[in-house]
Amino acid sequence: MGYIDPNPDGAKPQSAEPTTVGGTGGTVRHVVDRPTGIQRLVLRLLPRRMAARAAQESKEWVAVCGACGHATSWWEMGGIRFGAASKGKRTRRRCAACGETGWQRVERRA
Ligand SMILES: [Zn+2]
Repeated sequence: MGYIDPNPDGAKPQSAEPTTVGGTGGTVRHVVDRPTGIQRLVLRLLPRRMAARAAQESKEWVAVCGACGHATSWWEMGGIRFGAASKGKRTRRRCAACGETGWQRVERRA
């Protein structure tokens, strides 16, 4: 349970609890496209089944730019998010599409 906020602007510190699940340490590379360091770390710590779910959920969660509507998945941002059911969460970041920095709505798109 929990998530790690990529928090690209360094704004708004999150209480991101590290997920402490005893994993097998097996490789989970087949479930990810191009994991970042933190993603690799988390995926390595998780049991394979949970790692696959974490990667999937991280791709379903998106931050939507208020200026242009561009959606960026949590995974693309280099973050990982799973077991989360937050509603109305927002994150402050810069939009890759229009360059606007502002609060972006976080929502889950299954
Ligand atoms: Zn935008």
